[in-house]
Amino acid sequence: MAHRIDQNKCISCGTCDMECPFGAIIISDLGKFSIDAEKCTDCDKCAKACPVDAAEKVSE
Ligand code: SF4
Ligand code: SF4
Repeated sequence: MAHRIDQNKCISCGTCDMECPFGAIIISDLGKFSIDAEKCTDCDKCAKACPVDAAEKVSE
């Protein structure tokens, strides 16, 4: 199990970054949001908080 951010859905609202208790959200210089697999614990908070279902649980 892992978590990913679907770049086609993400509207860069920043909610996942505020919700993630482990600082696993990465924001690129271009403002793209992604998840640091090294820090992510798959707690699912970002997926529950994302308003457009862009942060999602995926099977690896
Ligand atoms: S909460 Fe969802 S839409 Fe907002 S930045 Fe995170 S992944 Fe993107
Ligand atoms: S699943 Fe949890 S730890 Fe992983 S990026 Fe989302 S909020 Fe952070």
